[in-house]
Formats: sequence, C-alpha cells, structure tokens
Amino acid sequence: MSRILELTKVNSFYGNIQALYDVDLHIDTGEIITLIGANGAGKSTTLMTVCGVVQARSGSVEYQGLDITKESPNKIVGQGICQVPEGRLIFPELTVQENLDMGAFMRNDKSGIARDLEYSYDLFPILAERRRQPGGNLSGGEQQMLAIARALMARPKLLLLDEPSMGLAPLVVRQIFDIIQKVNREAGTTIFLVEQNANLALKIGHRGYVMENGRIVLTDTCDKLLADEQVKKAYLGL
Ligand code: ATP
Repeated sequence: MSRILELTKVNSFYGNIQALYDVDLHIDTGEIITLIGANGAGKSTTLMTVCGVVQARSGSVEYQGLDITKESPNKIVGQGICQVPEGRLIFPELTVQENLDMGAFMRNDKSGIARDLEYSYDLFPILAERRRQPGGNLSGGEQQMLAIARALMARPKLLLLDEPSMGLAPLVVRQIFDIIQKVNREAGTTIFLVEQNANLALKIGHRGYVMENGRIVLTDTCDKLLADEQVKKAYLGL
C-alpha cells in the first residue's frame, strides 16, 4: 500500500497559542483513518493543517510523497484533498443540484461529472428527490449528506471529514457512516475521519489515533482501540 499522507512532528499555532504538539500520523491509500478526542483536543486543527488553512510552524505534511507544508489551500484542493468542514457549510440559497455542481467547479470532464452526479444520487437517493430544493430547506442530516456528496463531486483522492455526526440523530449518523464506508470500498477514496462519536467512528475505521491536548497519545487498529481499557473508559462511556 502506498503512503498518501504523512505528518511528521507537526506543531501548529493560533497566534501564540500552540494547538498541535509534535503530531506524527500517516495514512495509506485506501484506508479509513479515525481521529478521536475530546472537545478542543486539536482534531479540527489537524485537518486544517493538512489542507493548508492553518500552516504548521514546524514539522512537515507530505501528500503522495510531496511536501505540502507551505502550500496554499487552493493548491492543496487542486491536488485531490477535499474537506467537509464541521457544521457542513452548504450554500443554503442554491438548490441541491447547484450545490453539487459547485463541488465539481475545478473539473472540466463533462461525462465524468455527469457520472459522479449519478453516483452521488445513487448514494443519497433523498438528494435526488430534493434536487430542485434550496439546500437550506433540507434537514440537518440531509445537509450533511449534501456536504459529503458535494465533496465527492471533486473526486478527491483523500476526503477529510470533520465530525459528520455532529447534531444528528443516531439513525441518520449510522446511515451516513454506512455511506462513508461504501465510498471507501467502491470508489477507493481514502478517508480521514475526525469524530467525537468514537464508538461509531472506530467501527468503520481501519486504524485510529487518539488525541489529547494537541498530542497523539495512542494509535492502533480500530479493533484494538475499541478493546482498549483506557479508550473504553475515556471515549466509549463504558
Ligand atoms: P472540537 O471538537 O471542539 O472542534 P477539536 O479537537 O477539533 O475540538 P480544535 O478545534 O482543533 O479542537 O482546537 C484545538 C485548540 O485550539 C483548542 O484549545 C482551541 O481552543 C484552540 N483554537 C481552535 N481554533 C482557534 C482559533 N481560531 N484561535 C485560537 N485558538 C483556537
């Protein structure tokens, strides 16, 4: 398996406040990697450091063997990394279809775009039903689906998901996680999933990382993490 992403000793800051400390993390092509941790642990900052919104002050971020530590977010997106940010951030006034079209704005392969649109509608039939409705009229779960489908329209190699379960009912979360797994299996998309819902996230991930106070404190296969006493107590409420 080839390495798609590698963070080495990454230190990230907001002004003088350090948010990440010596973060080491890697993802191989085709994996689903789960990053769990409490509120404020640094999970979102890790994702933002990968996509260039926050620049690591020291250490390095390598994507497909290339150093992208100092690249702009635009360039990084252009290389196949796409983020679904926390809080979804769809365009509420645009229709579902227009939101999806926006996801493909960097592409010009018309037939490929049309195929991916059909694939998105197959994954999320509810979006097909609502294709002419404004995004803002959708339920929270449907908006999360739209945000994921829009990201897929960019045909990313690496999809970053920031707390897709946030604020959603358990049944909807399960549905969304099933689809994330399906996309990974069918389209081969590599997934970096950040979650506070550790239980579900560890069930769909291959390997996982646990973050506390800006540091990676534990990493293993998700099966092992699910069985780990410390993880059970701190993150699974067992
Ligand atoms: P959450 O689940 O709440 O998003 P998180 O694990 O994603 O938590 P981060 O959002 O990465 O955590 O935050 C890590 C640390 O950086 C926290 O101490 C937070 O207060 C701080 N932080 C995050 N964003 C900013 C910002 N824009 N300016 C200053 N400090 C910030």
